[in-house]
Amino acid sequence: MSHPDVAIADLNQAVEAMLWPQLDDAHLTYEVIAPIIERLKQEPGIRAETLGHSYLGTPIQRLSVGQGPVVVLAWTQMHGDEPTATAAVLDWLRLLLTQPPASLPRDWQQQLTLHVIPMLNPDGAAQSTRQNAQGIDINRDALAQQSPEGRLLWQQVQALQPTVAFNLHDQNPYYAVGDTDTPATIAFLAPAYHPKKHVDGARLQAKQLIALMKDKLSYWLPQGIARYDDSYSQRSFGDAIAGTGASTILIESGAHRDDPHRQVARRLNVIGLQLAIEALLNGTHEQYSLADYYGIPANTADGFCDIKLCNVTIDDGQHSAYQADICLVKAASTQSLLIDFVGDARTVHGFRDYDAQKLGLANLCALPRLGGDGQTLLKSLGLHSTNCNR
Ligand SMILES: [Zn+2]
Repeated sequence: MSHPDVAIADLNQAVEAMLWPQLDDAHLTYEVIAPIIERLKQEPGIRAETLGHSYLGTPIQRLSVGQGPVVVLAWTQMHGDEPTATAAVLDWLRLLLTQPPASLPRDWQQQLTLHVIPMLNPDGAAQSTRQNAQGIDINRDALAQQSPEGRLLWQQVQALQPTVAFNLHDQNPYYAVGDTDTPATIAFLAPAYHPKKHVDGARLQAKQLIALMKDKLSYWLPQGIARYDDSYSQRSFGDAIAGTGASTILIESGAHRDDPHRQVARRLNVIGLQLAIEALLNGTHEQYSLADYYGIPANTADGFCDIKLCNVTIDDGQHSAYQADICLVKAASTQSLLIDFVGDARTVHGFRDYDAQKLGLANLCALPRLGGDGQTLLKSLGLHSTNCNR
């Protein structure tokens, strides 16, 4: 069954044909995207500019389309280990340049200018780290501006004065939607520009655009879209840029069950971004209210772990036996399982759940996902009794 809105169903079909297959990966580096940028540069209508270089000298490029008064700026991978939207913006540019959706006005390039900075932090991408090569979290460098990447982004905001700014990230896989057992595959935020969280016209527009994207994307993710906490963070770029009068929109790509490369979030980023610029040109977002925005359920941290063992009895033979749940998460670097939490984990959901009460310890250790370190860790906990009731 396809999306009930025919234009969105068509858009979805068009996007499928635009996905760069080499970007279906959990890690993306500059070497992987550079040939794609070169191919996009061959398309008529695109303008490319090297804005500067990362701390270690890798080019940071900007790709631009259109010359209209509505200015949209999008940047990705400010955190080097958050590549999902980098793939999405390169898919999106391919779509706009080679097969612009019929739902866009024919003269859209006279109405809108789109600037995209794919991969703001190539050094972090190379090392698969959040930080840049200085060890600086660029998203806490909006005021101090000690990173070349942060300075470059701020210069772009000053020079371009975007109408709408898309700050595109990945969030850790353990966010849930509200208190449900659904992972937050997409989380949105219109960041505050003041500790009192005022809503000016620009922030209202950001919230309306988010409400529209949430509404339309809910067809594919009826439970999986959340709203990120809007506590003011003066060091962060989204909040600082919201203070310039740009309608600033954070999109966090998150986990989806059995989707390790976040291809669900990738597709929904492309569609959401496209729907947002179409709305900017036809005003359809104005029918959404603040209540629609605040009706999006909260993005809940620590809602998930990779493996949850519940009802485990721990008995080391020297102390009284006790019961606990054990949450295991995969180490980002090695993918080995680490114990994240021991105790009452009733509010945490496992991507895989096992009830120790129903499994003997021998079975627990034999679980296919509990190889290597995870198995050793379980043994070190002295898991040898599952005779518990709760
Ligand atoms: Zn991030």
